[in-house]
Amino acid sequence: MEKPTVFNIQKYSIHDGKGIRTTLFFKGCPLSCQWCHNPESQQYPVELLYYHERCTYCGTCVEVCPQKASVWDGRRIKVDREKCTACGVCADECLAGAREIAGKTYTVEELVAEAAKDQMFYEESGGGVTLSGGEVMCQDMDFIEALCKKLYRRGYSVNIDTCGEAPYENFARILPYVDVFLYDIKLMDPKKHETFVGVDNHRILENLIRLSQDGARINIRIPLIGGVNAEDGFIQDVIRFLQEHQIRTVGVNLLPYHNTGKSKYANLDRGYAEERYHVPPAEQMEHFRQMFQMSGFQNVKIGG
Ligand code: SF4
Ligand code: SF4
Repeated sequence: MEKPTVFNIQKYSIHDGKGIRTTLFFKGCPLSCQWCHNPESQQYPVELLYYHERCTYCGTCVEVCPQKASVWDGRRIKVDREKCTACGVCADECLAGAREIAGKTYTVEELVAEAAKDQMFYEESGGGVTLSGGEVMCQDMDFIEALCKKLYRRGYSVNIDTCGEAPYENFARILPYVDVFLYDIKLMDPKKHETFVGVDNHRILENLIRLSQDGARINIRIPLIGGVNAEDGFIQDVIRFLQEHQIRTVGVNLLPYHNTGKSKYANLDRGYAEERYHVPPAEQMEHFRQMFQMSGFQNVKIGG
């Protein structure tokens, strides 16, 4: 069984399903959403984060790097990403905390033990554990199935936060142990989906229909991005699709775009096209919420 990489374990999370939850963020995703606010979640291997704003340019990382990947660039320092193996030596030596390794592998037992620390909160709040990412459904499914099974047998509510782009058999394997699937819909037009997200939405929508037919409890999550999909026509298309295919939803979350991930792109030395996107106004979000509500959907919320 291959151990996937987890890049964050978030405690006391209240935005990833019902109650107080522990959210496990798995690294690696088949999509490449242009507005992604967790760019460190996109690649599967561990990566080096370089917080330029904390750097004192002491030069230690240049001296200790076994790959010669940290190099002087005039009076500044840059990381040659082709050479960097994310070994973590510079992160251990950097006194300014300007270097960090994103991602760590865990065993199933280690993740269950981590989740178990907050059992009391799950019992009191009706919460549990959410597996998120990146994309959970594209990890080693022997590992994910074993993890879901162990959490389920402990009586924890298991939520899966998914983009839906994975073989359906992966969903079928864990369905018996999952309380709710938090299922993203980003765009309805296949060509636009491919342009902004990297793949078309054929399999994502097919999987949603099959999951619903197989009895899954589904909470739809829709990121709304000004300049991409924050418009009435898109919301109408989503509503029509959900109704036509009788998707059984337990709730709908409308998630307004935010650009808190902007600095993370710099930490990975990647570019970010932020000027293309904007935050939808609060009145527009409320209008979208009402569109769902007036179409008969229950538990429609703005935010997670
Ligand atoms: S060791 Fe840390 S503070 Fe020193 S130059 Fe490297 S990144 Fe900057
Ligand atoms: S993580 Fe390792 S290879 Fe990458 S820059 Fe730091 S010391 Fe060099």
